[in-house]
Amino acid sequence: MAKYPFSYKNIHHCEAVVLSCIDFRFWKETVKFVKSSPPAGGLGIKIFDFPSLPGAAKTINESADDKSLAMQCISVPVNLHHAQKIVIINHQDCGAYGGSEKFNGDIEAEQQFHETELKKAKAKILAKYPDKEVILVYAKLVDNGDNIEFITVS
Ligand SMILES: [Zn+2]
Repeated sequence: MAKYPFSYKNIHHCEAVVLSCIDFRFWKETVKFVKSSPPAGGLGIKIFDFPSLPGAAKTINESADDKSLAMQCISVPVNLHHAQKIVIINHQDCGAYGGSEKFNGDIEAEQQFHETELKKAKAKILAKYPDKEVILVYAKLVDNGDNIEFITVS
């Protein structure tokens, strides 16, 4: 039997919900980026819900209504955990979108596409939660694929 200390005893609120892609190549670094404080280039968010769905913003953009799984990934943290910030993180070479090959190696076009997707999702979320802060991020492979750079999209 495994037993671990429960870090959040009697804590029911979190600062943010971070919706990211399921991709195993990105989520560990995504957590580091979200937690690290702004001087280190991160968001400085320590306590957050962390739903992941294939394509992140894609699932919001394709959701038909508030009952969709994607919208529930936002509404539960916001309504039950009182999350004030909503972070959506898309990434380069996302299989849910057909990967990088869909862009024939045009890294700029791929980034532009994801930024448009993220902004579309933001508009949809703000229509429902106008008083929340929505933060958009694109995880880009840089340095010949050795590093992941997290770029805030405004
Ligand atoms: Zn993905």
